[in-house]
Amino acid sequence: MPPTALGEDAAAFGVEVRAFLERELGAAAEHADPADLTGLGEEFERSLSRRAGAAGLLGSAVGPEHGGPGRGVRHQAAFDYVAAASDAPLVDTALTLAGHPVLQYGSPAQLALLLPRMLSGELLMCVAYTEAGAGTDLRAITTTAVPDGGGYRLTGTKTLVTGAHKADWCVTIARTGETTMTMFLVEMGTPGVRVRRRPTMNGWTLDEVEFDRVRLEASAVLGAPGGAWRQLVASVRAERSGLFYLGFARHVLDLLVAHVRATPGLTGDALVRDAIGGLEIEVEAATVLAARAVAEPGLGPLAKIAGTELLQRLAQAATEITGHAGTVWAPPYAPAPPYAAAGGRFAWEYLERVHGTIGAGANEVLRDLIAGTALGLPR
Ligand SMILES: Cc1cc2nc3c(=O)[nH]c(=O)nc-3n(C[C@H](O)[C@H](O)[C@H](O)COP(=O)(O)OP(=O)(O)OC[C@H]3O[C@@H](n4cnc5c(N)ncnc54)[C@H](O)[C@@H]3O)c2cc1C
Repeated sequence: MPPTALGEDAAAFGVEVRAFLERELGAAAEHADPADLTGLGEEFERSLSRRAGAAGLLGSAVGPEHGGPGRGVRHQAAFDYVAAASDAPLVDTALTLAGHPVLQYGSPAQLALLLPRMLSGELLMCVAYTEAGAGTDLRAITTTAVPDGGGYRLTGTKTLVTGAHKADWCVTIARTGETTMTMFLVEMGTPGVRVRRRPTMNGWTLDEVEFDRVRLEASAVLGAPGGAWRQLVASVRAERSGLFYLGFARHVLDLLVAHVRATPGLTGDALVRDAIGGLEIEVEAATVLAARAVAEPGLGPLAKIAGTELLQRLAQAATEITGHAGTVWAPPYAPAPPYAAAGGRFAWEYLERVHGTIGAGANEVLRDLIAGTALGLPR
């Protein structure tokens, strides 16, 4: 059930999305692909995305002026929550990953080119910002875009990029002056773009994207030349309400409760009941906070920290409570040994939830921001 804290209309939309996903994901396990973050093969992901687009479920936050349904951000948050809670490969769609920079900074020509296909679920996109020496501090990037015959030559290597191997387009940033960076839209099929898949500790692959003197037209600039930093800060901030973290959390807690119910040694254990009662409070509280952050972006850093750290505590608690069965690992949708708790999900969660506290603004940096900006503590 999507959180009612989003409002009854958004929650009702979430119920509609849930019903759609229950129908569509029935046979998903036949399309398992553990090398993909979603756990499902690209073909299945693309066709599900297109069907969601055809059903008019994508792009709630996109207004009618851009051809979107214009339901609003609460409905988009309900969609993200339900998609996460349903293990649907729709959380990292073009719209959720690249929607903010494209919608906010896209030129009329760029919007006309990409938005209709983003809304119909035909496009997969990635964002390629991070580099080996520039993670949390993106100002340290070394990728350059040098003026070249009215356009640019893009050169550099991006790392830790989610889904580049299947993306049609990416949003990236490059140095265009001593102190300035510019955002670009790059079609992944452009000569000189090379993608290498690198395994993560959880079995799926993150990508390294090499731009080898990639020739870009001036029209590839997304937003203002030299304006990437301001645009990046706004886009990362827009990502943070992070209600999808709580969709994942609800799913894991539901799996844990189901496992405990079905396991005689655990059902009546007072310590287990105490732990699960406590986790339920945490999930509910963090969900209400994240739902509030949808309308009050100032709460975004608080919600992001609460959601990502709760996911780590949940994985820790689930593996502790379920013991050996919980340490058996298998990715979502992949076959798991019969003795694995929740199909191997708790061990997968334990590894998967490490990065949430580092990405989209490291939690340490966000805590510092809260102490300074919200509480006025001097640096
Ligand atoms: C699974 C995964 C998917 C990702 N997907 C993408 C993607 O699609 N596109 C993309 O561009 N990037 C992506 N990233 C990169 C991610 O968003 C982070 O920016 C990146 O991982 C952080 O850089 P780093 O790993 O080099 O860690 P670092 O920045 O080196 O941080 C290392 C540690 O130091 C801490 N730290 C850093 N700065 C400070 C500070 N000022 N104060 C206190 N502590 C600090 C961090 O919290 C962390 O614990 C992904 C990363 C992962 C792991």
